[in-house]
Amino acid sequence: MHRALELLKSINQKNFVAGKWTETPEQLEVFNPANDEVIGSVPNLSSAQVSAAIDAAAQGFSEWSKTKVETRSQVLRKWYELVLKHEDALAELITLEQGKVLADAKREVAYASGFLDWYSNVVYSVSGSMQVAGGARLSVEYEPVGVIAAITPWNFPLAMITRKLAPAFAAGCSAILKPSELTPFSALALTKLAIEAGLPANAINIVTGDADRIGQILCDDFRVRKFSFTGSTKVGKLLYQKCAGTLKRVSLELGGNAPFIITADAELEKTATDLVSAKTRSTGQACTSPNRIFAHKSIAAEFAKIIAAKFTALKVGDGFDPKSDIGPLINKAAIEKIERLIKDAQSKGAKIITQFKIEKNMISPTVITNCNDSMEIFRTEIFGPIVAIYEWSEVDEVIKRANDTEYGLQSYIYSNDLSVAQKISQNLDFGMVAINTPIPSNTKAAFGGRKASGFGIEGSAEGIYEYLNHKYLHQSTIS
Ligand code: NAP
Repeated sequence: MHRALELLKSINQKNFVAGKWTETPEQLEVFNPANDEVIGSVPNLSSAQVSAAIDAAAQGFSEWSKTKVETRSQVLRKWYELVLKHEDALAELITLEQGKVLADAKREVAYASGFLDWYSNVVYSVSGSMQVAGGARLSVEYEPVGVIAAITPWNFPLAMITRKLAPAFAAGCSAILKPSELTPFSALALTKLAIEAGLPANAINIVTGDADRIGQILCDDFRVRKFSFTGSTKVGKLLYQKCAGTLKRVSLELGGNAPFIITADAELEKTATDLVSAKTRSTGQACTSPNRIFAHKSIAAEFAKIIAAKFTALKVGDGFDPKSDIGPLINKAAIEKIERLIKDAQSKGAKIITQFKIEKNMISPTVITNCNDSMEIFRTEIFGPIVAIYEWSEVDEVIKRANDTEYGLQSYIYSNDLSVAQKISQNLDFGMVAINTPIPSNTKAAFGGRKASGFGIEGSAEGIYEYLNHKYLHQSTIS
């Protein structure tokens, strides 16, 4: 942990606004979810300071948007190298403020840095088009959208930031970022490295403080031309409405309610091992986390036994303890939500087949069977290490039930029958389908949902176009 504390010393109590590390008289405390102890604080910015961040970003845009593609690529690459150089400290910082176990935090650093690497290359691939037709030259070229604002959640405090800022900076935009007040230090450490990598100081601004007020200022300012939000559907809807006044381009990466469909012929041991990986990632606090486990009725009881044995063997504890398999949840409210969901499920016939223990912010990995679609847990993102098993009989039936949710982000199929897997996959109303694999997120692939899970693409070569405006030129040819 000493590396994280060293890093924390240089960013604690400050944020980076208008090219300066800024402090305020009023601070917001940040807690370690493993023991609820205060680990530091960040400024509670005034409205004037948030506006100053937008002024700075507007200046930063006029500078950064004029840089050569080569320069942008080099800065992103240098930033990537610096993140790798400090990967242990960054991972420790994630564990300290978010709680996930260190090995998991290291995987997040690798995932997060991957976007810097990827977009340092993608920046070269942006190209317009040209046609010569009927005495005219018709061409399309791309320009950065301008100042962008990003708001990110606490569950992946580093990766959700690089997934937005890497394509934004590659495109030539400048940014104002509001990280979650629960996990602001990863964002600040990343910013320190961005400046060291050569990003102009005004191009990146970090604002912390009252989320509602900051969100309002960012949405109301016409100079912010793009808004990228990752977080809950509730807040996403609110910000979408607020962006209407200034007609910003908007990307929304929102909540999920992933079905995890297991067919009768699936390899149960591998399926259970993969389900453990997917459910323990970020202690189950991932938008892609399997939420409704649909097991075919012929294997449901056997599968429940296998997964219960694996879950019971997991150790919950402080993320810095090498013996811990999963860490704490983010806070008490997260624990209370799960308690409420489990009580409701039990009252409607669900059975807990593992232990169900809560101690402060730690919750034991729990398996519940006998679940049905009338339970609150069927419709709610659990956000914790809870496996809720539903039985099914017919393929058409399970497709219908899997789609019976307002969300449409990640989905999973485990099957050895290609034709059944293909039929299910084609009929799932989700932005992403993983077949026989537990962690499909990849910098090179288009991540994004539909319906109440939002819209927009992050990652992949397409992700950069979220930060580019197209311009159509029609020129007469000279005769
Ligand atoms: P959240 O409550 O919506 O918060 C997300 C961010 O929005 C935080 O920075 C938060 O700030 C800020 N915020 C809250 N209220 C706001 C307001 N009125 N105006 C402006 N900003 C506001 O979500 P969360 O609990 O942090 O994150 C969990 C959710 O994110 C889950 O639903 C999860 O599925 C979703 N998620 C989606 C993806 C994806 O790619 N689709 C990825 C990760 C997470 P404060 O924290 O400072 O209050």
